[in-house]
Amino acid sequence: MAGNHQAAETGQRPCLMCGRLDEPTVEHIVPQTLWKRFGLDPDDDDLARFRTDLCSRHNKATSDLHRRTEMMDLIAVGAPVTRKTLEHLGDWAVWVTLLLSLARGSGVLGAEASRESLLRRFDAGSAGGPPKGVRVYAAQIDDSVERTEPDITPYVLALQGDPRVVLNDSGQPVGLNARTGPINASEPIRLGKVALLVVGSTHKSGDDHDARLDEAAAQVRLERIRPLGQSLPALKPTQISMANIGRLFTVIPEGADHSLMPKVLQKLHAWDEVSDADDML
Ligand SMILES: [Zn+2]
Repeated sequence: MAGNHQAAETGQRPCLMCGRLDEPTVEHIVPQTLWKRFGLDPDDDDLARFRTDLCSRHNKATSDLHRRTEMMDLIAVGAPVTRKTLEHLGDWAVWVTLLLSLARGSGVLGAEASRESLLRRFDAGSAGGPPKGVRVYAAQIDDSVERTEPDITPYVLALQGDPRVVLNDSGQPVGLNARTGPINASEPIRLGKVALLVVGSTHKSGDDHDARLDEAAAQVRLERIRPLGQSLPALKPTQISMANIGRLFTVIPEGADHSLMPKVLQKLHAWDEVSDADDML
């Protein structure tokens, strides 16, 4: 379904959230006003992947997300950087990622969990917060310097809710299997002056897991904006590589550092080696 979810039929398909067919509307996941500020036509074919279908009720519910003028300024011109704009941006990035990945049929949270989170939030006012444990990193892009692609260490993460991660009765990871699951551990978004990376909720590698996620993100010059800490990230204009941001966190163990996976999973070198583990011992 997601593969041929394209522009021509947008607005004539069931609501992405509730499946209803009445009153279909086109949802501009990235607000039209923002595209216009960049001099782009929001209905252009090239931007089709940023549009989807919602019933009019759910379109109205999500439109509140786009009424954050100072946050839109931060995306468009890189300022103001305040607690409020950063909180709004982090929150917005999560919902946009959920909508985009649901429209596409793949994502860091899986279709079912994404739909659940969206309905919890947009069906019941703003009662439901973003899914627990999802982190958002951001940088302000300095385009005045020549872009380079420095070498980075990609990290493999074990995502909460990934059916490949085998859990014991107390919910602790004990192994991996070769079934299919999410193809990404994170979703990069570049919009205007801002680069964003939304990282799915992960099984912890140890007590310093969260701090080490932040360190890994610092490799590609990203700062954490969700959850927001006591001191605000500066979000100074910096040279960034979207390619590196896109490959920083992965679910594919090959060629990646394993130290951010739960210890018990670190020794497994590929998802499909689990079944052979006995032979190897
Ligand atoms: Zn709906």
